[in-house]
Amino acid sequence: MLVREALGRVLAQDIVPAINVPAHDNSAMDGYALRLSKEEMYEEIGTALAGKPFAGKLGPGQCVRVMTGAVMPQGADTVVIQEIVKKEGERITVPPGQKKAQNVRYAGEDLKIGVAVLKPGVLLKPADIGLIASLGIGEVRVKRRLRVAFFATGDELASIGTALKEGEIYDSNRYTVHGMLARLGVEAIDMGVVRDDPAQLEKAFRQASEKADVVITTGGVSVGEADFIRQMMAKLGEVLFWKIAMRPGRPMAFGRIGNAFLFGLPGNPVAVMVTFYQFVRDALLHLSGRSDAPFPLLQAIAAENMRKVPGRTEYQRGVLFKDRDQWKVRTTGQQGSGVLRSMSEANCFIVLEHERASVKAGEPVSVQLFEGLA
Ligand code: AMP
Ligand code: MG
Repeated sequence: MLVREALGRVLAQDIVPAINVPAHDNSAMDGYALRLSKEEMYEEIGTALAGKPFAGKLGPGQCVRVMTGAVMPQGADTVVIQEIVKKEGERITVPPGQKKAQNVRYAGEDLKIGVAVLKPGVLLKPADIGLIASLGIGEVRVKRRLRVAFFATGDELASIGTALKEGEIYDSNRYTVHGMLARLGVEAIDMGVVRDDPAQLEKAFRQASEKADVVITTGGVSVGEADFIRQMMAKLGEVLFWKIAMRPGRPMAFGRIGNAFLFGLPGNPVAVMVTFYQFVRDALLHLSGRSDAPFPLLQAIAAENMRKVPGRTEYQRGVLFKDRDQWKVRTTGQQGSGVLRSMSEANCFIVLEHERASVKAGEPVSVQLFEGLA
């Protein structure tokens, strides 16, 4: 596809330069190109601009006026910046202390002919798009987008646009899941809300697993009366694990039906997001053919006490902030797994390790930022 359209897609080929970038030795500054010697005086014999090289050849004691990006004139090895040069007519005086080869950019310094610069699996960032363009390459091959079908389950779920009946809540999970999938660049297939009814769930699972590489559901995965997801996964395929020592998100089922992988996420809105980011995200990146480095855990100082019992990993919602020259983190307050506001106000997870007990203000904790620069 056209290189500009490939932004955010996963590269499916090696990018190997057929040219050097830059293509020629050139000046890194505005100034004078010369063959450096002990002499202080040089005679100006011409000008070279970016895109307009000097046609002649330069000898000892001569210089050429050059602008940034101008091809180095033949015979020159050094550029002296214009600010320190004294000019009288066609003669310039260069102060002592110049270093040979200074202010010169060499051919191939950025990209070398034949040396692959991008590999399959790279998620194409703006810099990569520009880099490919700098090689004069107009089209690239990218991997197929991963297809991910998702649906929310629950008899209590009302859709936007309908009035809430008693005991109903608006379905928010389908919106957060859609948002998280969109950010990962996969093809998201919204299959709506499915009631807590085995026959309807079976139909939805069959349809989803036929058209998608991955199926994600929310709700109905614990051990309540209306929780059929795990049974249904076991009936139609296999459940590889469920129940994880984490909070929020303890009940989460992973398995497969046919060729599709299944993630049965919990129903609580925060648990949905935590399990998605901690499990589903990495799996989707891998299945998309991406070769990302692991998402970094950074250290920050706890700005407040945090309650925690050993025996499970907790993902509290935090706000990382700078306090004088120290990065500190506080929680977003109420940490219930249904309190979606705790995610909305947060800019990071505070990751409290499995064995860890309560944290005192001033102790270091690990944080995982929600946003990355690129
Ligand atoms: P469940 O795991 O199905 O028992 O759901 C756990 C909690 O999450 C219940 O309070 C549900 O009402 C809530 N919940 C389930 N699905 C959704 C959804 N799609 N949007 C918002 N809340 C939900
Ligand atoms: Mg339910």
